[in-house]
Order: sequence, then structure tokens, then C-alpha cells
Amino acid sequence: MTTPSLISALSRRLEGKVALITGGASGIGECTARVFAHHGAKLVIADIQDDLGHSLCQSIDQTNCKYVHCDVTDESQVKNAVDKAVKAYGKLDIMFNNAGIVDKSYARILEDQKTDFERVMSVNAMGVFLGIKHAARTMIPARSGSIISTASVTSCIGGVGSHAYTASKHAVLGLTKNAAAELGQFGIRVNCLSPYGLVTPMVMHFLGGNEKQVENSFNSSANLKHVTLKAEDVANAALFLASDEGRYISGLNLPVDGGFSIVNPSFQ
Ligand code: NAD
Repeated sequence: MTTPSLISALSRRLEGKVALITGGASGIGECTARVFAHHGAKLVIADIQDDLGHSLCQSIDQTNCKYVHCDVTDESQVKNAVDKAVKAYGKLDIMFNNAGIVDKSYARILEDQKTDFERVMSVNAMGVFLGIKHAARTMIPARSGSIISTASVTSCIGGVGSHAYTASKHAVLGLTKNAAAELGQFGIRVNCLSPYGLVTPMVMHFLGGNEKQVENSFNSSANLKHVTLKAEDVANAALFLASDEGRYISGLNLPVDGGFSIVNPSFQ
């Protein structure tokens, strides 16, 4: 369980807002749920890890946090999750498309299998497309909303993740830009976050080995060497984009990477 030790002192920035978080049962999603709840949001947590999702909602607040099983690759389940938020709380203000997976560690292109590529694209790219589509369905009539997706530094940089992961995160950035261009006329903002280097179950599945060693290697490749990325850092970036403080920001890919992407001038 994540302790929101870095939660901003500015309180209740999401009072009255309703948020849906995919991949909300673990890692970045779980921490963001706690931060959003702390700031007054009502939540729907959507994930495929049902036990984790239910216990997260119980530990937050059963009245203002609902869990729904939702595989983001299944359009009917994404639609159902959005509908659950609207049915429970009357609206959807914030959609956080955060669910993501990795495939095998640094497989070479000749070793990559079509099925592995399809699986990663299906969760990371198709899942975001479906999340944007069904959030927009409810946000367009309301003429407002904030859609945020978790991309990655691999949305702009090659050679860090696997082929499929990098391609999928480039797709998240493309979807973000197109949706921002299309949905701005309805008062809907669309942005993405690009973290780098947080030790979570997904990352350990990809890299393997010892958590401390993985964290040390992330620290040594970031520019901010004396700061270790915490899930709260990503959650607070999501909070800013979700809140009215970000009301004039749309189409942004916000790096949360300790300066890692500075070395790559193509970022953005
Ligand atoms: P995590 O493993 O802790 O969380 C991922 C969550 O997504 C899990 O709860 C998992 O059950 C859920 N999920 C997986 N497949 C799903 C599906 N088909 N439908 C619904 N939910 C599904 O890992 P994390 O690091 O917190 O990852 C969250 C996001 O952050 C991912 O999109 C990941 O690509 C991105 N990201 C993470 C890092 C990092 O350093 N940890 C860096 C860049 C981007």
C-alpha cells in the first residue's frame, strides 16, 4: 500500500469531481486514487485485479470509491466502467487511462512474436483509445472534462522499452494529440504523463532482479540523481492536469522523469 507522503498541502483540489482510473488497483493508479480521494474526488477504480481493487476502495471510502472489473481491451467493459461512474455519481469529470503492461525484456526484433506485439498494443494503445472514446461520450454533452493517459518516456524515445511497448506509448501520445485537437471545442482537455523509473510490479516483471538495484539504476540514469521517483510524483502531476489549475493545458505530454528525457531533443 502506498503512503501518500508527498500529497500537496493545497487541499481539496478535486472537490465535487468524479474520476475513473483504469489500472487503478496497483502502482501509479493506486497512488493516484489515494491522492485524488484526498483532494475530494469521488472515484471509480477499474482493473482486472479484483481483490486489490476492492480492498483499495475499502481502505479509501466505500461510499465515494467504487470498484469495477474492467479489462481495457474489451470495449463493452470500458463502456460499463464509464456508465458505472455516471450512474453512481451523476457524471464523469476526470478519466485517467493508466492501465498498462510490458512484454518480455528487451526482446530483439527477430525474436518478437506477433501475438506479444498485439497484446501490448491492445492494452496500452487500444485501451487508451477506448478510454478516451467512452469518456468523451459522457463529457461532450457536459461540455467539460479532463482526460489524462499514462504514456512513458518511450512515447518519444527509442531503445528504452521493448518494440511493442515503445510503439504503444508513441500511440498514446498520438491519441492524446488528436483527441486534444478534436475535443477542445467541447471544453475537454486531453493530456498525457510520461514517467520514467518507478519500481512497480509492471517494471519488475520487465526487468526482473532486485528492487533496490533496479531503483539505483533508474536513479543513475536520471538527471536528478539525489531524488528518487515516487508514485506520488506521478499522481501529483495527474492531480495538476485533472484539477482546474490545469484548465488551459491540453495536448501536453508531461514528463515525470527526473530530467531523463532532456538528453533526447525529440521529446514532445
Ligand atoms: P502496475 O503493474 O503497478 O500497474 C498496472 C495496472 O494495470 C495493474 O493494476 C494491472 O492489473 C492493470 N492492468 C493491466 N492490464 C490491464 C487490463 N487489460 N485492463 C485493466 N487493467 C489492466 O504498474 P505501473 O508502473 O503503476 O503502471 C501504470 C502505468 O504507468 C502503465 O501504463 C505503465 O506503462 C506506465 N508507466 C510506468 C512507468 C514506471 O516506471 N513504473 C514508467 C512509464 C510508464
